[in-house]
Amino acid sequence: MRRLFISDEEVRGDRLLLGGTRLHYLCNVLRMGPGDSFIAVRANATQQLATLIGVGDKELTASLSAPEPVNTEPRVELTLFQAIIKGKAMTLAIQKCVELGVTAIAPLFTERTVVRIKDADRTKKQRRWQQIAEEAARQSERVRVPEVLAAVDFEQALFSLNAGPALLFAERHVAASSMSVGEALAGHKDAERVAVFVGPEGGFNNHEIDLAAEHGLTPITLGPRVLRAETAAIVACALVLYELGDMQ
Ligand code: SAH
Repeated sequence: MRRLFISDEEVRGDRLLLGGTRLHYLCNVLRMGPGDSFIAVRANATQQLATLIGVGDKELTASLSAPEPVNTEPRVELTLFQAIIKGKAMTLAIQKCVELGVTAIAPLFTERTVVRIKDADRTKKQRRWQQIAEEAARQSERVRVPEVLAAVDFEQALFSLNAGPALLFAERHVAASSMSVGEALAGHKDAERVAVFVGPEGGFNNHEIDLAAEHGLTPITLGPRVLRAETAAIVACALVLYELGDMQ
């Protein structure tokens, strides 16, 4: 059955009131009418069966069943700091990492980022990535839509880091020494927050590896083969969630 994220402002007791693009989506795109149902997913990690009662020009009303808890969110807050990569690869990384369970995606400009985004297009791009995240969250039955943050420079992102392990993924020939994900998280099984950094097509350069080291980040390896950035992002997030017990 269709799932739709709804906000608290759209709920009045056991009724759901939807207007604007939601009304258009349900009635014109999905061709739903009175008596049809969908699953309304709430930010408080509950879901309710919504059944359309009345459809007007400006608003539709649906009845809501009793809320049931949904337990699909990981315990850990995982942020993927992903250097901006080419269109399809970036889409894939966002989509798959949201399915896996990331909390947020922070696009990064790094020294070897080749994708150029005009200032005027930044918001448009961010909105597009946010849409991809929302669609993937809906599809994977999550209750929380991961936020795609505004793109920032690599160094700025290092300064913005909160407490908790931060893992910088780097291929072997870039990093002199490196640890595996398991080794890096061994003492942090209860971590509340983890940050994962993945480079662009050309990788991180030595200056960035040194800068990261100054912020306490040691390079992390995914083995001897060089993975494409989007593959590295997906595998890195999966391994972190696995190590922290979220994939059982
Ligand atoms: N510099 C490389 C490609 C970089 S791969 C080249 O052109 O040969 C893109 C990103 O994926 C890297 O910056 C790193 O974050 C991640 N990555 C790819 N393979 C990896 C591996 N084996 N271990 C850790 N990270 C890896």
